[in-house]
Amino acid sequence: MAITKIHARSVYDSRGNPTVEVDVTTETGLHRAIVPSGASTGIHEALELRDKEKAWGGKGVLKAVANVNDVIAPALIAANIDVADQLAIDEFMLKLDGTPNKAKLGANAILGVSLAVAKAAAAQKSVPLYAHIAELAGSTNPVVLPVPFLNVLNGGSHAGGRLAFQEFMIAPVGASSFSEALQQGSEVYHILKKLTVKSYGQSAGNVGDEGGVAPDIQTPKEALDLITDAIEAAGYTGKVKIALDVASSEFYKDGKYDLDFKNPESDPTKWLTGEQLGELYAQLIKDYPIVSIEDPFAEDDWEAWSLFYKTTDIQIVGDDLTVTNPLRIKTAIEKKAANALLLKVNQIGTLSESIQAAKDSFEAGWGVMVSHRSGETEDVTIADIVVGLQTGEIKTGAPARGERLAKLNQLLRIEEELGDKAVYAGDKFRTARLL
Ligand code: PEP
Ligand code: MG
Repeated sequence: MAITKIHARSVYDSRGNPTVEVDVTTETGLHRAIVPSGASTGIHEALELRDKEKAWGGKGVLKAVANVNDVIAPALIAANIDVADQLAIDEFMLKLDGTPNKAKLGANAILGVSLAVAKAAAAQKSVPLYAHIAELAGSTNPVVLPVPFLNVLNGGSHAGGRLAFQEFMIAPVGASSFSEALQQGSEVYHILKKLTVKSYGQSAGNVGDEGGVAPDIQTPKEALDLITDAIEAAGYTGKVKIALDVASSEFYKDGKYDLDFKNPESDPTKWLTGEQLGELYAQLIKDYPIVSIEDPFAEDDWEAWSLFYKTTDIQIVGDDLTVTNPLRIKTAIEKKAANALLLKVNQIGTLSESIQAAKDSFEAGWGVMVSHRSGETEDVTIADIVVGLQTGEIKTGAPARGERLAKLNQLLRIEEELGDKAVYAGDKFRTARLL
């Protein structure tokens, strides 16, 4: 089935910044995707094209929108590729761009088309999007619901307090279904909010970019104590585990890690070496039920990653390190730097390359956590991606704020639709593809 029309426009994301929305029209109607946007972006990500002009403080996306409407749309429609041939369409756009990091057309322009095309293809086949993605990826059993890693306490570049670590997530691995996991997560979240306000005052309950509470605390220990207390008060000790995204590239300075990076008068003599930071993680892993740490070290501090890898068997997730890029993933596998991929579609810019990134990771025995961005929208495509690729783990913020719940609610719908066939990844989240 041919694409008859492609139209892009500028809309807004959850931080109120412009972003690209694309409508792809075929005989089955109009199919829409909206592109997300990060704040703690990795330097090796594909290029997000921003206008860099006065309007919207430089963050306009009118050039990316024009690249869809004036360059990609006429060329792709003239090429007359079947909308179900995702790989051919993505490769056509890669060629049209011609740069290694999508700098000419913008990854935000290309991704909007790529995702909307996938939705159009699913409609053409009259199958749910996750089933179509499973077929594209060769997944055999797209019935696995992921563990939701719920970011209940926000720090780093996503919140205003002094806390350096960016994300403190709860992972209800002991639940028996996705809906039960979300119930447990929601209960812990609300108790955490009460405990946070009780300990740190009314304003500490205000939320950060991803819906988690954002108290003005300084140390990871304070955050982890609050969260373990909330898990215990909810009655889920042993069932709900903890995960971190340190996002440490944000505070890597002169070869060291500055845990006071939001203080302009931070004392450089207190900055930690990679080895010292690794020792801090080892202590935290000993003291708390931590099952996963993302970006423990900076995006090019390969040595610290490889050193830490040898010391632990918990999940070590590459985000800024690997940027969903098959070339960076290959290096990380060779260097034994991580054992899991954070999969963000806009880091690489097409669905086909994202699928390849997941497959390469699986082949190395890695886990794959599908992820939102801190700047999100009502688009729920990643919920279908995580089921379609059968990765068993997703992070899409707190169980609060519409743009975060949109994805979690879509997963509730998918679980209901699958009925008896649905399997919850639970504590097998790192190897869910084998379920
Ligand atoms: C992350 O770092 O994993 C994240 C979701 O944040 P951002 O989108 O700001 O990169
Ligand atoms: Mg991250």
